[in-house]
Amino acid sequence: MKKRLFTPGPTPVPENVMLRMAAPIIHHRNPEFMEILTRVHEDLKYLFRTTQPVVVLSCSGTGGMEATISSIFKSGDKVITINAGKFGERWGELARTFTGNCVEEKVDWGTAIQPDRLLELLKEHPDAKGVCLTHSETSTGTAADIQTLSALIREHSEALVLVDGITAVGAHEFHFDDWGVDICITGSQKGLMMPPGLALVAISERAQDIINGQSGKTQYYLSLKKALKAHAGDDTPFTPAVSLVIGLDEALQMIKEEGIENIWKRHESLAGACRQGCNALGMKLFSNSPSFAVTPVWLPEGVKWSAFNKALKINNGITVAAGQDDYKDKIFRIAHLGFYDELDMLTVIGGLERALSEINFDFEIGVGVSAVQKAFLGK
Ligand SMILES: *Cc1c(COP(=O)(O)O)cnc(C)c1O
Repeated sequence: MKKRLFTPGPTPVPENVMLRMAAPIIHHRNPEFMEILTRVHEDLKYLFRTTQPVVVLSCSGTGGMEATISSIFKSGDKVITINAGKFGERWGELARTFTGNCVEEKVDWGTAIQPDRLLELLKEHPDAKGVCLTHSETSTGTAADIQTLSALIREHSEALVLVDGITAVGAHEFHFDDWGVDICITGSQKGLMMPPGLALVAISERAQDIINGQSGKTQYYLSLKKALKAHAGDDTPFTPAVSLVIGLDEALQMIKEEGIENIWKRHESLAGACRQGCNALGMKLFSNSPSFAVTPVWLPEGVKWSAFNKALKINNGITVAAGQDDYKDKIFRIAHLGFYDELDMLTVIGGLERALSEINFDFEIGVGVSAVQKAFLGK
């Protein structure tokens, strides 16, 4: 049985990326590696739509978030965070850890922060030094309108715009420079079609000025100040995860070849077909502002997560993600982020049908697959 991953990180890794990483290790001060890192730095600008530096950190996505908060803010700085799920909550935990002054706005799971509410927060807290947003909240499969939110912050506040783009970059349209974003983070194991282990952080000019003006005494390894200094010479402050950087070089060539606009369109189309397949099976969708990276679905009444997941995983080799926290046994999440195509959506919806049938859920076999076919074939 083939094992198939439909989780929002790690995501499947293409064969050519794996093969590049399997080559004998090279030294990170070799000209050969320096050339690769220089190209990766350049191509990351293409990915984020920016002319500003995008630094490569050897850590998972959360390390990029921690480096951001600890390198930009001082103790006591007021930071507004939007908690619409697990990852927005993480922004709050980090802000409380490093500044001790966090204004956390809770938003119902499955919905995104509304611009009017953010405007109220900005007016209530004119002294805020930063606003932390999540573009695609992976725990709830919900996308926020970063373009509008960022414009609002730029217009009404001096606060920096910090975006967790970990499951959005490479799935949702995003323009770092044009949208006035100050920080955007992604992780290698999400839209980049890579194994876990790298965080990529894009840093605006105003954020660079602030970072370079800080003492740098509240962090050591996860330091954007050190990373920026090294980046200026197309270098890294410590031994980078050499194999992963080489894999990233390959993945970025694939991304450039397909074209970032086409990649955004592909994700929108995969997500749309996935939702139609689930709808056709009589399953209710969870989010009112669905992400293009991951589709959250209510478990049908009477279907137990443990039995459903067992049928999917053990009998059919398909791994999807469970719900988190209050939604643990209530929803599940299907990812279509990174290295996925149209036939993958037929596979996952076909897999759902097999699992539902095995646990005797009542539905007409083939309706989900048929809906996916129709979505793609426009019939
Ligand atoms: C996966 C994810 C993270 C955390 O990244 P790690 O690589 O697990 O540290 C943060 N934010 C979002 C939106 C994510 O999807």
